[in-house]
Amino acid sequence: MSELSVAYIFKQHQLLVDENFQLPRVERLESDLIFKSGDQVIARDLHIEEAIPKGYQLVPIRQLITQWSKQQFEQASRAVQLLEWRRNHKFCSHCGTETDVHRSEYAMICPACNYHQYPRVQPCVITVITRGDNEILLAKNAKNKSNMYGLIAGFVEVGETLEEAVQRETMEEIGLNVKNIQYLASQPWPFPSNLMIAFRAEYDSGEIVLQEDEISDAQFFKFDDLPEIPFAGSIAHAMIQHVIHNTPFKSE
Ligand SMILES: [Zn+2]
Repeated sequence: MSELSVAYIFKQHQLLVDENFQLPRVERLESDLIFKSGDQVIARDLHIEEAIPKGYQLVPIRQLITQWSKQQFEQASRAVQLLEWRRNHKFCSHCGTETDVHRSEYAMICPACNYHQYPRVQPCVITVITRGDNEILLAKNAKNKSNMYGLIAGFVEVGETLEEAVQRETMEEIGLNVKNIQYLASQPWPFPSNLMIAFRAEYDSGEIVLQEDEISDAQFFKFDDLPEIPFAGSIAHAMIQHVIHNTPFKSE
């Protein structure tokens, strides 16, 4: 019998863990995705007819951010993204032939034309905007039914710098100009395959005008009178804490 491997076993965005949120150990299969860091950690989807082992449960990966260390959450998010990428690249996007899994790197290769497909990351800027020394801009996402207020965020477009993306997204979503844009930190975010790139910026000019299909409300809030904000562990939470308490940026 072969040695057991620690396994990330997913059913969509849910992960199989025991009651203490620990991963199972299983026998490795030929089709499993193996992490570069060694062959002791594997990832795969739950097979269609596979039963959930006794004592185990499927937990949404988002929920694990509050249970796990940053390193472990990041490994899980890498696993879910690589599996999803592999699932979505079964055929060559150049000539349509069925692809093979590369033996030694994360790539899908076309046996007919040798085109290599690599996992893609989508850069997404997220900005915490302040006005004066005691106000922060928070916005409510139109698609989110809760009362949570978050930050302005959006995807970087082709041909654009990160700073230009910050300015464009802020103008599009709430109609404001910002200045003094400063990089803070980044965080991989596996929903679906984003790299969140965090900035802080200061209000420059303009009146708030909402892009109503994206944002249902946006206001400058006093630091000591905030609405409900994103949960601890998210980069937005860390960014808000950073500006309110004027402390060095810490993303965990
Ligand atoms: Zn091809």
